[in-house]
Amino acid sequence: MLNIILMGPPGAGKGTHAKWISTEFGLPHISTGDMFREAMNSGSELGNKIKDIVNGGGLVSDELTSALVKERLSRPDCANGYLLDGFPRTIPQAEALALFGPEIGREVNLVIDIECPEDVLIARIAGRRVCPKCGASFNVNTMKPKTEGICDYCGSPLIQRKDDNASSFKVRLDNYFKSTEPLLAYYRERGLLHSFDGTLPLLNMEAELSALLKGKR
Ligand code: AMP
Repeated sequence: MLNIILMGPPGAGKGTHAKWISTEFGLPHISTGDMFREAMNSGSELGNKIKDIVNGGGLVSDELTSALVKERLSRPDCANGYLLDGFPRTIPQAEALALFGPEIGREVNLVIDIECPEDVLIARIAGRRVCPKCGASFNVNTMKPKTEGICDYCGSPLIQRKDDNASSFKVRLDNYFKSTEPLLAYYRERGLLHSFDGTLPLLNMEAELSALLKGKR
């Protein structure tokens, strides 16, 4: 069974690789960022509460995020594996997952870390365009959609994320180095961590991921 966490700084390619892994291996793709964006778009109470934090690049509280993920992973579609993207992002979140994961039969058994130098991240974020409907990610310079401004997968108009601006990106990158990067040591110590070079061409990356995941399935 593949109970996977996908990690990496903003712009490393988590969303792109998550989409491929989830399709290729039939795993539900659970992205906390997508869940928060959906809540904000729907104008729900949760959405209004977190809007300023998310748009400014800050982190939503550990308690709220962990409770949301616990509820989502408890659902039947995660019983045969899942792919978590964007959670955990802090040590308290990893500790919460280490407790509730086994409790609900969803213990993590693999952590994929995508590494990428800062200058590449900055260029990718500046050119990133996303589909608000299906979550697919494109880049105006390096990963253009077939038709300019339109999602290849569902035909919706692409947008630039509100937090993909220079000041929010700086906050997100600082948060990554301060709060999320320490998780690499946490998972390395537990023998779960597999790191990949996020600057590899897409096809090479997919071949490497495929070899790892087929070996673990
Ligand atoms: P992402 O799509 O993963 O880049 O997430 C977008 C934003 O959602 C982040 O910048 C945070 O504001 C919020 N967010 C997503 N996942 C988490 C998390 N695990 N903990 C706290 N905030 C999160």
